[in-house]
Amino acid sequence: MERYYIGADIGGTSIKLAFITEVGEIKEKWEIPTDTEDNGVNIPKDMSRSIHDKLMGAGFEKEQVMGIGAGAPGFINTETGFVHQAVNIGWKDYELGKILRDLTDLPVYVENDANLAALGENWKGSGNNVENLLAITLGTGVGGGVIANGSIINGANGTAGEIGHITVIPEGGAPCNCGKTGCLETVASATGMVRLAERRINEGNDTRLEEIKETNGVLTAKDIFEAAAQKDKEAIHVVNDVADILGMTIANLAIVCNPSKIVIGGGVSQAGEQLLQPLRESFTRFALPRTNEAAEFVLAELGNDAGVIGGAFLVKEHIG
Ligand SMILES: [Zn+2]
Repeated sequence: MERYYIGADIGGTSIKLAFITEVGEIKEKWEIPTDTEDNGVNIPKDMSRSIHDKLMGAGFEKEQVMGIGAGAPGFINTETGFVHQAVNIGWKDYELGKILRDLTDLPVYVENDANLAALGENWKGSGNNVENLLAITLGTGVGGGVIANGSIINGANGTAGEIGHITVIPEGGAPCNCGKTGCLETVASATGMVRLAERRINEGNDTRLEEIKETNGVLTAKDIFEAAAQKDKEAIHVVNDVADILGMTIANLAIVCNPSKIVIGGGVSQAGEQLLQPLRESFTRFALPRTNEAAEFVLAELGNDAGVIGGAFLVKEHIG
């Protein structure tokens, strides 16, 4: 009898769900909108109903489903599935694991969404099942997951691996969503890069980014990489600044956990080698030579599927 896992990646606008086989292949995936009204109280019900409906036409029985592995953007007690806080969803002190378990009558395991993506990339993506891995997602924010000695790190109260909130500018940094200032996220996210570029424009530097912004109304990280590729000095500055700071931060992290793979994902990583090359240089400059020898930078491969595949891995890890 073939067994299946359910992966669930709960985001601020949509919930990605998937039936996944024991070897990590997606049999079926779908999305439902995230109902954040009333502090997200309807979400488990919506998920449960949607899973139930899909099971009807799935071609296998509920008995073949081993459990649900769910990720949410927030601080989570992974033992119990208790969500201390998930700001984008509206949950505070929310018993997600228990509620979803009661509704579905299935084992439920909950993890932070970025940690889940790290597990997914390590299982079926570019991680290649290593024991020590750093995963960094550079999107509108900066997410992170750390696998050390084969286990994802959660820490004392669910805040381990929040790489985006490492302070990289101690004085005068931009405010971050977490309430601090100068976090990595304020520099190395798409939003952060745009802010750095806009500062250069406002300082009166000569850059084609100014024209791009006037024409399009907005500036994107992609514009900055494209301008840098065309030798725009200010755009190159921004890319190098980001790579310098990110590379140093990763080098410092790498001294703690000595990763063999450093997986870079998220929208900003679509720049590929244009980002990886200066990032490697910065990393090499700041890492211990022996740490550097072990570490390989790779691009994430699973894209938006990393979370649901990580969810399946979470179930597999718990029940085999
Ligand atoms: Zn922060």
